[in-house]
Amino acid sequence: MLSGKTAVVTGGSRGIGKAIALELARQGAKLALVYAGNEAAAEETRAELTSVGAEVKLWRCDISDFEAVKALCKEITAQLGGVDILVNNAGITRDGLVANMKEADFDAVLDTNLKGVFNMTRHLYSNFIRRKSGRIINITSVVGLMGNAGQANYAAAKAGLIGLTKSVARELASRGVTCNAVAPGFIETDMTAQLDEKQRAAYDDMIPMKRLGQPGDVARLVAFLASDAAGYITGEVIRVDGGICM
Ligand code: NDP
Repeated sequence: MLSGKTAVVTGGSRGIGKAIALELARQGAKLALVYAGNEAAAEETRAELTSVGAEVKLWRCDISDFEAVKALCKEITAQLGGVDILVNNAGITRDGLVANMKEADFDAVLDTNLKGVFNMTRHLYSNFIRRKSGRIINITSVVGLMGNAGQANYAAAKAGLIGLTKSVARELASRGVTCNAVAPGFIETDMTAQLDEKQRAAYDDMIPMKRLGQPGDVARLVAFLASDAAGYITGEVIRVDGGICM
């Protein structure tokens, strides 16, 4: 159980992040949810969490902005009295073949999916050092392990995130802080709702379990990694993918 713990979930207002927030709240954690701009989704998630008795605060911030994240982390630690669990979940896609990919689309995905995680970790680093305990959980993707045609920017960011995870794990292990990565396969969220029927059928066919995963499948693993039971696991990458990348 996570009673008495505080958790920051980036991208906690929708999709996988929302399921993570609900699962951590169910286990008793206090929550700070960070979102980019979809106010309505964030308020809906807040209402849902509050209705099940969770304590939750919302922060609107672009995690790719180093200075904005610095101010955000200062504010969150001041208001929550410190952070025990950081879930770096926020992410975007800007798909296209390398031949046609715009520089701005490459940069946007790297800035949010990789630099955004660096920014959050960098500005909560001293919080974790001071507490001499903590959990950092980064949401990567099987695409970071396998590559994917049409997602070079996304795959590069998610592969980079695995290197970042292992480096942070090594830096903070002696301080009692673990850092792990969770690599979902294809999960039913707004992100995968962009797939057309033909693409979806092709994915279903490729997945040994013959279906996309649910956000809760990822959330339950994140809650385990956040718990005391996972205290000796660090620098690990765990797939939740119906077997697509075994
Ligand atoms: P969604 O598109 O459903 O939700 C994305 C969330 O991230 C939203 O809360 C969004 O806020 C937030 N966000 C996006 N950009 C920023 C930013 N610059 N600063 C702060 N918050 C931001 O995504 P999913 O739930 O599908 O994905 C969550 C994570 O899981 C991502 O890292 C994704 O790469 C990864 N993943 C997803 C898979 C899938 O199949 N869905 C598979 C493998 C990995 P707002 O609503 O305000 O825009």
